[in-house]
Amino acid sequence: MNILIFGPNGSGKGTQGALIKKRFGVPHIETGVIFRENIKKQTELGNKARGFIDRGELVPDEITVPMILNRLQEEDCKAGWLLDGFPRNLAQAEALAEALDKAGMKLDYVIEIALARETAKNRIMGRRICAVDNNHPNNIFIDAIKPVEKDGKLVCRVCGSDQLSARADDQDEGAINKRHDIYYDNQTGTLAAVNYFRNRTRVIEVDGAPGVGEVSAALAAKLS
Ligand code: AMP
Repeated sequence: MNILIFGPNGSGKGTQGALIKKRFGVPHIETGVIFRENIKKQTELGNKARGFIDRGELVPDEITVPMILNRLQEEDCKAGWLLDGFPRNLAQAEALAEALDKAGMKLDYVIEIALARETAKNRIMGRRICAVDNNHPNNIFIDAIKPVEKDGKLVCRVCGSDQLSARADDQDEGAINKRHDIYYDNQTGTLAAVNYFRNRTRVIEVDGAPGVGEVSAALAAKLS
């Protein structure tokens, strides 16, 4: 099962991705997570990517495209994968489609979580990352996934870890706007990538505005 998931930063894409990963038993490959892990470990890739990420810009395609295409060759991807955060622009969509054609692979689902830009921005600023598992959803502005208060401190609502933090790029309004400029650009940006697949394969669109439970129910209904 090969799946792409699209949605602006703040649409709940990561949360829905974690649920899809569980449902289909495929690895959840998140470009942003791979970059952040490399930055933490101070690898060559991480050092190259850091400045772009801090400014809310895309890491150049010549770094990102081979990184993802290589990742899809790994052993755990044999039975399928869920790609999240890639492709992010039209050029990456074309590179992916070409690589899939060459490998004789097809896309089973392309999912788009649609959300208004202003709503997405507010949600990003409330997002908190759990150090134990970045798939534990916590957001101080969304009631359904609010972190829990314990001894005057906010802790992860899933595992209780007190290691909750905001990503620096989530608190930077300029960087958020830049990321959204890229996502909502339907000429060469991410929406152009979605449209590229819309012309080739079925794109399943769900409204990202309701709560997590409603969005995942709507998605589950469309996936069956
Ligand atoms: P995310 O966690 O998806 O918000 O990604 C964080 C940052 O990683 C983005 O703002 C970009 O700087 C970089 N990034 C993630 N995915 C890509 C991609 N497909 N192409 C280029 N840069 C990316």
